[in-house]
Amino acid sequence: MAKRDYYEVLGVSRDASPDEIKKAFRKLARQYHPDANKEDKNAAEKFKEINEAYEVLSNPEKRGAYDRFGHAATDGQFNGGFGGFGGADFGGIGDIFDMFFGGGGRQRRNGPEPGADLRVDMELTFEEAAFGLEKDVKIPRTENCSTCGGSGAAPGTSKRNCDVCHGTGQIQYAQSTPFGRIVQSRTCDRCRGAGVIIEKPCPTCRGSGQVKRSRTIKVKIPAGVDTGSRLRLAGEGEIGLRGGPPGDLFVYIYVQPHAVFKREGNHVIIDAEINFAQAALGDEISVPTLEGQAKLKVPEGTQSGTVLRMRNKGIPDVRGYGRGDQHVRIKVVTPTRLTSKQRELLREFGRIEGQKSRGADKGFFEKVKDAFTG
Ligand SMILES: [Zn+2]
Ligand SMILES: [Zn+2]
Repeated sequence: MAKRDYYEVLGVSRDASPDEIKKAFRKLARQYHPDANKEDKNAAEKFKEINEAYEVLSNPEKRGAYDRFGHAATDGQFNGGFGGFGGADFGGIGDIFDMFFGGGGRQRRNGPEPGADLRVDMELTFEEAAFGLEKDVKIPRTENCSTCGGSGAAPGTSKRNCDVCHGTGQIQYAQSTPFGRIVQSRTCDRCRGAGVIIEKPCPTCRGSGQVKRSRTIKVKIPAGVDTGSRLRLAGEGEIGLRGGPPGDLFVYIYVQPHAVFKREGNHVIIDAEINFAQAALGDEISVPTLEGQAKLKVPEGTQSGTVLRMRNKGIPDVRGYGRGDQHVRIKVVTPTRLTSKQRELLREFGRIEGQKSRGADKGFFEKVKDAFTG
């Protein structure tokens, strides 16, 4: 049978644009796909013809040679022709479908697939988060079965490609829709999508080739992590399939609240109470820090609500940029139960304050009263 003209095969004119050629090819390839035309022996031939025509016409170099020399250029008969591509080899129908759908929704079942990422949540105390630590983490992860080496077949037996789907795990079938014939695929029911038939399943993994196993790995938590921090451990996730790379392990950090310390960024906030006399005269007080008790100087005349800063007593920056401060919020506590001695002293204090303001014609307590009634 004489070979048909490639342009005729695709139903396009000789000056068709690459886009037009592509469109025509897609339409025809769907229509004559062998899986969609099982009963029609000619469809496979036709499909091969379409594919061959497209391979030549979609390549500017080959198309140019074909335009000049016809089939001779592509059959390798032409002196010095393109012997390499004459065969229009289409080994895998999968290849053609990947071309159609850009591999977007459909992954090739036989290629390597990266493993899934895993997530573990970790709860840390305030101090652990501040200073970091190394922690053992138990990770349930899927691994290749060691009995069968991941094949799923019992030792000494083997597995073979599924004869229904030819190892693809999918069966393609055509459907008529208002938009034309559409080739769809469903999971092969003979092999349940695996593409292979296992005669005698491995007793350890029951044929899946994989087992769940808990592993304990050491995770180094850097100083300065906070709630919401996420650590990534490359390659510690699920194993990849068919030689694909393993996934990653993500550790999500949750930091428990602390009874004394609060955190704002890398700063630690605490409250400290002092009395009248300490506020007025100044004092050195002892306050808790992440590293134990420390001395803090309260200056003379400190007001309630004043924030005193202790440099570098906060939390180390998780990226190593220095260290935060500790902020001490001072609260001046008004005494509620006074001893007679204290009462006496405060009366004395009030009298002195009153004398100081005598020039303004108002007594000390009058002044206070005025201030509150406005
Ligand atoms: Zn096994
Ligand atoms: Zn199958």
